[in-house]
Amino acid sequence: MVKVPLAPPRGMDDILPEEIPLHRSLVETVRLLFRLYGYREVETPPVEYYELFAVKSGQEILSHMYVFEDVHGRRLVLRPEMTAPIARLVAGKLSRSPRPIRLGYVADCYRLDEPQWGRRRRFYHGGFEIFGSKEPAADAECMVIFDDFLRRVGIRDYYFKVGHVGVHRAIMSAAGIEDDDQDTILGLLDRGRVEEAEESVRKLAKDREAATLFKEVAAHPAGPAIETIDELMAKLSKAERACKELENLRKIVKLASQVVEPARIIYYPGFARGLSYYTGFIFEVFGQGAEIALGGGGRYDGLVSLIGGPETPGVGFAIGLTRIMQYLTDRLMVKPQPDSPLALVAPLAEESIEFAFRAAHEFRRAGVPTELEMAAYSPSEAIRRAERRGARFLVLIGRREVESKTVSVRDLEGRFQEEWRVEEIYERAESLLGRTRVGS
Ligand code: AMP
Repeated sequence: MVKVPLAPPRGMDDILPEEIPLHRSLVETVRLLFRLYGYREVETPPVEYYELFAVKSGQEILSHMYVFEDVHGRRLVLRPEMTAPIARLVAGKLSRSPRPIRLGYVADCYRLDEPQWGRRRRFYHGGFEIFGSKEPAADAECMVIFDDFLRRVGIRDYYFKVGHVGVHRAIMSAAGIEDDDQDTILGLLDRGRVEEAEESVRKLAKDREAATLFKEVAAHPAGPAIETIDELMAKLSKAERACKELENLRKIVKLASQVVEPARIIYYPGFARGLSYYTGFIFEVFGQGAEIALGGGGRYDGLVSLIGGPETPGVGFAIGLTRIMQYLTDRLMVKPQPDSPLALVAPLAEESIEFAFRAAHEFRRAGVPTELEMAAYSPSEAIRRAERRGARFLVLIGRREVESKTVSVRDLEGRFQEEWRVEEIYERAESLLGRTRVGS
């Protein structure tokens, strides 16, 4: 016998039968939102060329990638996120699609993060990206969809942490700081290394004013979005370009507030995100009792052109489905339940197995999830087995039923017991379905 590890690689998870329904319902909610908001779903391979992410994903992501070589010496990676692959599509195969183009995805992503609560090495993103619009309505739509998702999956206590790296970039650009340096500085800010970020601005800026302004933004206390934006605008009144960016954030927040409760939107002026392709609005979502984000995103206007496509603005976000699943079960105490059949067909004698096999098929034809016992058991054992599987209806088939070409259908919640002729099953089984119809 070969000894193989029975656990998956460290930080990766099997999704077990009792977990699948909850995972599936999160994915289905994402797909429902694709339909409701007009996003077309796409799929890309989990393996991409290294360069796709090397261009602009940022040091944080690059240092946590699974990188390997194929037999031809090509450098490949397991995708750490989906925005770059989607931008690759928009730069290539979809470059001629009419704009705006809304794309959605559900995809597993891989990062060599240190495994801990909510941080896995393989996790699912459910994402939405809009290309071809610079309008604040596109940014605001991202928040609205996230808000819609959270309500639909039963998360009620959450807030949006919003920011705008356009404000920082405007200050740095005005002071002649190159884009690459800006990315590094924003990366420092993202990791909480505020003083180092300020020090770099001081060193690289052509004038002293920039460092002061940068600090002013980074140090400004977080608060309810509109009020905080207005306070900061008053402070930065002389920095025209930074104020224009703040005005953009204000419009986004105002639009989002048409749907999202305004009190849930908190502006953090010092907020930056790890991915260096962000150029404007950014946000993350936090749930009560979870110190890490349930998802996030932002605007990345330069990404498509950077990877060789036409100049195309973009904004989007990813919902951290794996983290949300953990949040639901560990923090909100949602109890995962495995799928169970609606009906269990149980032959009671060796001679009734053939007939039971056929009868089970009639139930399925009618759309009733039906499991078949493959051997004969006594009625009391059949009941025990049906209960263990979580079946609501038990269909008993003994010698008598075989002779009369009927089945005994018993509601295990005690409401009825009926005898159906086999040719009636297809019609009558519908009554068992309630709201649980499968395959319709
Ligand atoms: P990011 O691409 O880093 O902005 O990630 C978006 C969301 O994906 C985060 O807010 C998390 O909810 C989720 N996420 C990121 N990294 C991980 C991870 N290692 N394990 C589980 N979820 C993650």
